[in-house]
Amino acid sequence: MKQPMIARKEVTLHVLKTFDIRASKKLGQNFLIDPQVVDGIVGAADIGPDDRVLEIGPGIGTLTQALAETGAAVTAVELDQRLLTVLEKTLEGYENIRVVHGDILKVDIAREMGEGGYKVVANLPYYITTPIVMALLERRLPLERLVTMVQKEVALRMVAKPGSKDYGALSVAVQYYTEPELLFVVPPRSFIPAPAVESAVICCKVRKAPPVEVESEKLFFRVVKSAFGQRRKTLNNALKLTGLSSEGVGKILSGAGIDGVRRGETLSLQEFADLANEWHKLL
Ligand code: SAM
Repeated sequence: MKQPMIARKEVTLHVLKTFDIRASKKLGQNFLIDPQVVDGIVGAADIGPDDRVLEIGPGIGTLTQALAETGAAVTAVELDQRLLTVLEKTLEGYENIRVVHGDILKVDIAREMGEGGYKVVANLPYYITTPIVMALLERRLPLERLVTMVQKEVALRMVAKPGSKDYGALSVAVQYYTEPELLFVVPPRSFIPAPAVESAVICCKVRKAPPVEVESEKLFFRVVKSAFGQRRKTLNNALKLTGLSSEGVGKILSGAGIDGVRRGETLSLQEFADLANEWHKLL
């Protein structure tokens, strides 16, 4: 077995120079150059030869190589055409890697991955972290776990609890679909080029069933979106953004036993579910 080595700084620099690649800011390219971080990500994904992995944005193949070394079947989706030539070379000889050229937000993931469960592992491009995470979760793909590098600030939002400044619609959505855990913080020096912000690796174990019962997910997320749409507003006012009349807002608040002067950021997942289920009763 070859030892994963693209993560070494000198190897990454050599690859970038050989292929004359300048990292694209627009595509969120910050290449990992820290073998310990790569090990941490692959370890958290807990993968073996029987697993299937979807990697988003393989870059020059740093994580991809380490993932492939576990024996798992890896599908890696990369948008930057320039990197496809690089990947052909850096991942040469690995028969368990398939590189797909495309935009992860447009690729038909269900078709690419076929039947059966899989794990998603990625050092995500930061300019579209939230849309990618939400698209993966909302589509109800048979994901088992999502282990990703994100901006630290985004990781804190994903794991935030009610009442904290980081708690918002992203926290509710991620915690509705998964059990997220912030694993470790990664400094800018672990990448080339170094990003302006700190990063963090997060592991989200996808739930078999949501932690709260909701009659209609559509209403649940409408309530969540409205409650956080205007953070300073009380629920009495914020919930009017759902399209409900003042009377309707009053009814769902009293039905759920929630004081309308509270703000959305104090509500637990259960309380959001209670409001959505009261709304559902009015339909
Ligand atoms: N995995 C590599 C690593 O850890 O060094 C690169 C990570 S870099 C932060 C993000 C990667 O995502 C880049 O290779 C970039 O070209 C790719 N990317 C950006 N937008 C994408 C998209 N919409 N679909 C697929 N890949 C994308």
